[in-house]
Amino acid sequence: MQIQYKPKRGLLATIFQAEILQGMALTLKRLFSKPITRQYPEEKPQIRTGFRGQHALVRDPKTGKSKCVGCMRCAMVCPSRCIRIRSHKDKEPGSRRVIDDYQIESLRCVYCGYCEEVCPVNAIVLTEFYEYGSYDRRSLYFTMEQLLGNWDRFAAQLDRPVEEYVNPFWRPRGLPEQTLPAPKRLPVSPEWSGEQQVVGRKWRQHHGPEQS
Ligand code: SF4
Ligand code: SF4
Repeated sequence: MQIQYKPKRGLLATIFQAEILQGMALTLKRLFSKPITRQYPEEKPQIRTGFRGQHALVRDPKTGKSKCVGCMRCAMVCPSRCIRIRSHKDKEPGSRRVIDDYQIESLRCVYCGYCEEVCPVNAIVLTEFYEYGSYDRRSLYFTMEQLLGNWDRFAAQLDRPVEEYVNPFWRPRGLPEQTLPAPKRLPVSPEWSGEQQVVGRKWRQHHGPEQS
Protein backbone atom coordinates (compact mmCIF):
# COMPACT_ATOMS: atom_id res chain seq x y z
CA MET A 1 0.00 0.00 0.00
CA GLN A 2 1.38 3.40 -0.95
CA ILE A 3 0.79 6.32 1.38
CA GLN A 4 1.37 9.74 -0.06
CA TYR A 5 1.29 12.94 1.99
CA LYS A 6 -0.65 15.68 0.21
CA PRO A 7 -0.60 18.99 2.06
CA LYS A 8 -3.90 20.86 1.96
CA ARG A 9 -3.41 24.24 0.28
CA GLY A 10 -5.80 26.80 -1.06
CA LEU A 11 -5.58 28.15 -4.58
CA LEU A 12 -4.04 31.49 -3.46
CA ALA A 13 -1.41 29.75 -1.32
CA THR A 14 -0.46 27.64 -4.34
CA ILE A 15 -0.27 30.62 -6.69
CA PHE A 16 1.83 32.75 -4.35
CA GLN A 17 3.92 29.85 -2.95
CA ALA A 18 3.09 30.83 0.64
CA GLU A 19 5.78 28.57 2.17
CA ILE A 20 8.55 30.33 0.23
CA LEU A 21 7.30 33.70 1.42
CA GLN A 22 7.10 32.44 4.99
CA GLY A 23 10.67 31.12 4.75
CA MET A 24 11.95 34.40 3.34
CA ALA A 25 10.17 36.35 6.10
CA LEU A 26 11.83 34.18 8.73
CA THR A 27 15.25 34.68 7.11
CA LEU A 28 14.71 38.44 7.03
CA LYS A 29 13.66 38.45 10.69
CA ARG A 30 16.77 36.49 11.74
CA LEU A 31 19.00 38.80 9.69
CA PHE A 32 18.39 41.63 12.12
CA SER A 33 18.20 39.69 15.39
CA LYS A 34 21.10 39.06 17.80
CA PRO A 35 23.14 35.99 16.74
CA ILE A 36 22.83 33.01 19.04
CA THR A 37 25.91 31.26 17.68
CA ARG A 38 29.49 31.79 18.85
CA GLN A 39 32.65 32.03 16.74
CA TYR A 40 34.45 29.23 18.55
CA PRO A 41 37.42 28.87 19.14
CA GLU A 42 38.02 32.64 18.88
CA GLU A 43 35.15 33.23 21.32
CA LYS A 44 35.20 30.96 24.35
CA PRO A 45 31.94 29.98 26.07
CA GLN A 46 31.18 30.94 29.64
CA ILE A 47 31.56 27.80 31.73
CA ARG A 48 29.35 27.38 34.75
CA THR A 49 30.36 25.86 38.06
CA GLY A 50 29.73 22.15 38.04
CA PHE A 51 30.37 21.75 34.30
CA ARG A 52 31.29 18.13 33.56
CA GLY A 53 34.49 18.41 31.59
CA GLN A 54 37.79 16.53 31.59
CA HIS A 55 38.42 14.26 34.56
CA ALA A 56 41.08 14.94 37.14
CA LEU A 57 42.53 12.97 39.99
CA VAL A 58 42.74 15.25 43.01
CA ARG A 59 46.30 15.55 44.31
CA ASP A 60 46.59 15.32 48.07
CA PRO A 61 48.61 18.41 49.10
CA LYS A 62 50.10 16.49 52.05
CA THR A 63 51.52 13.56 50.08
CA GLY A 64 51.68 15.04 46.57
CA LYS A 65 49.95 11.87 45.33
CA SER A 66 46.41 11.01 44.30
CA LYS A 67 43.81 10.82 47.08
CA CYS A 68 42.47 7.58 45.57
CA VAL A 69 42.33 4.64 47.99
CA GLY A 70 41.58 2.02 45.35
CA CYS A 71 38.10 1.08 46.54
CA MET A 72 37.03 0.48 42.90
CA ARG A 73 33.60 2.07 43.42
CA CYS A 74 34.05 4.45 40.48
CA ALA A 75 35.03 1.62 38.13
CA MET A 76 32.06 -0.47 39.26
CA VAL A 77 29.47 2.30 38.95
CA CYS A 78 30.72 3.60 35.59
CA PRO A 79 28.05 2.78 32.96
CA SER A 80 30.59 3.06 30.13
CA ARG A 81 33.15 0.78 31.76
CA CYS A 82 35.86 3.27 30.85
CA ILE A 83 37.78 3.40 34.15
CA ARG A 84 40.65 0.98 34.73
CA ILE A 85 42.50 0.80 38.03
CA ARG A 86 45.47 -1.33 39.02
CA SER A 87 46.50 -1.42 42.67
CA HIS A 88 48.30 -3.60 45.20
CA LYS A 89 48.53 -3.89 48.95
CA ASP A 90 51.79 -4.44 50.78
CA LYS A 91 51.97 -7.43 53.11
CA GLU A 92 52.77 -5.35 56.22
CA PRO A 93 49.76 -5.16 58.54
CA GLY A 94 47.95 -1.82 58.43
CA SER A 95 49.47 -0.77 55.10
CA ARG A 96 47.28 1.16 52.67
CA ARG A 97 46.40 0.09 49.16
CA VAL A 98 48.81 1.58 46.61
CA ILE A 99 47.48 2.73 43.24
CA ASP A 100 49.79 1.55 40.45
CA ASP A 101 47.72 2.88 37.58
CA TYR A 102 44.47 4.72 37.00
CA GLN A 103 43.19 5.24 33.46
CA ILE A 104 40.09 6.74 31.91
CA GLU A 105 39.18 6.26 28.27
CA SER A 106 37.58 9.66 27.88
CA LEU A 107 36.12 9.02 24.42
CA ARG A 108 33.81 6.40 25.91
CA CYS A 109 32.78 8.49 28.91
CA VAL A 110 29.19 9.81 28.96
CA TYR A 111 29.93 12.42 31.67
CA CYS A 112 27.26 11.15 34.02
CA GLY A 113 29.36 12.10 37.06
CA TYR A 114 28.60 8.84 38.88
CA CYS A 115 32.30 8.17 39.48
CA GLU A 116 32.62 11.53 41.18
CA GLU A 117 29.47 11.11 43.21
CA VAL A 118 30.32 7.64 44.49
CA CYS A 119 33.97 8.31 45.43
CA PRO A 120 34.14 8.32 49.24
CA VAL A 121 37.27 10.49 49.40
CA ASN A 122 36.57 12.99 46.59
CA ALA A 123 39.54 11.70 44.62
CA ILE A 124 38.06 11.82 41.11
CA VAL A 125 36.36 14.93 39.75
CA LEU A 126 35.05 16.33 36.50
CA THR A 127 36.72 19.69 35.90
CA GLU A 128 35.53 22.67 33.91
CA PHE A 129 38.00 21.93 31.06
CA TYR A 130 35.97 21.25 27.96
CA GLU A 131 38.49 21.28 25.11
CA TYR A 132 39.29 17.78 23.88
CA GLY A 133 40.39 18.40 20.31
CA SER A 134 43.41 16.28 19.41
CA TYR A 135 45.01 14.58 16.42
CA ASP A 136 46.37 11.90 18.70
CA ARG A 137 43.84 9.38 19.99
CA ARG A 138 46.19 8.24 22.75
CA SER A 139 46.16 11.70 24.34
CA LEU A 140 42.43 11.20 25.02
CA TYR A 141 43.15 8.01 26.92
CA PHE A 142 43.96 9.65 30.24
CA THR A 143 46.72 8.12 32.29
CA MET A 144 47.21 8.70 36.01
CA GLU A 145 49.87 11.35 35.29
CA GLN A 146 47.55 13.20 32.89
CA LEU A 147 44.68 13.05 35.38
CA LEU A 148 46.88 14.42 38.16
CA GLY A 149 48.17 17.07 35.74
CA ASN A 150 44.57 18.04 34.95
CA TRP A 151 43.98 18.63 38.65
CA ASP A 152 47.15 20.75 38.96
CA ARG A 153 46.03 22.91 36.01
CA PHE A 154 42.49 23.17 37.35
CA ALA A 155 43.57 23.99 40.90
CA ALA A 156 45.99 26.66 39.59
CA GLN A 157 43.27 28.54 37.71
CA LEU A 158 40.61 28.44 40.43
CA ASP A 159 39.58 31.87 41.61
CA ARG A 160 39.06 30.62 45.18
CA PRO A 161 41.02 28.34 47.55
CA VAL A 162 41.05 24.74 46.39
CA GLU A 163 39.60 23.58 49.74
CA GLU A 164 36.53 25.71 49.11
CA TYR A 165 35.86 24.29 45.69
CA VAL A 166 33.11 21.76 46.15
CA ASN A 167 31.79 20.42 42.95
CA PRO A 168 28.06 19.81 43.44
CA PHE A 169 28.35 16.31 41.98
CA TRP A 170 30.65 15.30 44.79
CA ARG A 171 27.71 15.08 47.14
CA PRO A 172 25.00 12.46 46.51
CA ARG A 173 21.60 14.08 46.84
CA GLY A 174 18.65 12.88 48.88
CA LEU A 175 20.71 11.02 51.50
CA PRO A 176 20.88 12.01 55.18
CA GLU A 177 24.15 13.87 55.76
CA GLN A 178 25.19 11.63 58.66
CA THR A 179 25.22 8.61 56.32
CA LEU A 180 27.78 10.22 53.98
CA PRO A 181 31.56 9.78 54.31
CA ALA A 182 33.27 12.80 55.92
CA PRO A 183 34.65 14.33 52.68
CA LYS A 184 31.12 14.39 51.26
CA ARG A 185 29.94 16.52 54.15
CA LEU A 186 31.98 19.54 53.09
CA PRO A 187 29.81 22.65 53.13
CA VAL A 188 28.01 23.29 49.85
CA SER A 189 26.88 26.72 48.76
CA PRO A 190 23.04 27.00 48.98
CA GLU A 191 22.74 27.42 45.23
CA TRP A 192 24.04 23.87 44.84
CA SER A 193 22.03 22.13 47.51
CA GLY A 194 18.65 20.47 47.05
CA GLU A 195 15.61 22.66 46.48
CA GLN A 196 17.61 25.86 46.19
CA GLN A 197 19.79 24.51 43.40
CA VAL A 198 20.06 27.11 40.68
CA VAL A 199 20.25 25.56 37.21
CA GLY A 200 18.84 26.18 33.73
CA ARG A 201 16.19 28.90 33.60
CA LYS A 202 16.65 29.67 37.31
CA TRP A 203 20.39 30.26 36.70
CA ARG A 204 19.64 32.72 33.90
CA GLN A 205 17.15 34.55 36.11
CA HIS A 206 19.85 34.90 38.79
CA HIS A 207 22.79 35.75 36.57
CA GLY A 208 21.21 37.39 33.52
CA PRO A 209 21.58 36.20 29.91
CA GLU A 210 24.76 34.45 28.86
CA GLN A 211 27.32 36.23 26.71
CA SER A 212 27.17 34.85 23.18
S1 SF4 B 1 31.50 10.35 34.23
FE1 SF4 B 1 30.24 8.49 34.13
S2 SF4 B 1 30.83 7.49 32.22
FE2 SF4 B 1 32.42 9.00 32.68
S3 SF4 B 1 34.00 7.87 33.78
FE3 SF4 B 1 32.61 8.76 35.32
S4 SF4 B 1 31.08 7.16 35.73
FE4 SF4 B 1 32.12 6.62 33.82
S1 SF4 C 1 35.91 5.66 43.99
FE1 SF4 C 1 37.51 7.18 44.47
S2 SF4 C 1 38.84 6.18 45.96
FE2 SF4 C 1 37.58 4.58 45.01
S3 SF4 C 1 38.87 3.82 43.32
FE3 SF4 C 1 37.55 5.42 42.46
S4 SF4 C 1 38.74 7.32 42.61
FE4 SF4 C 1 39.72 5.80 43.94
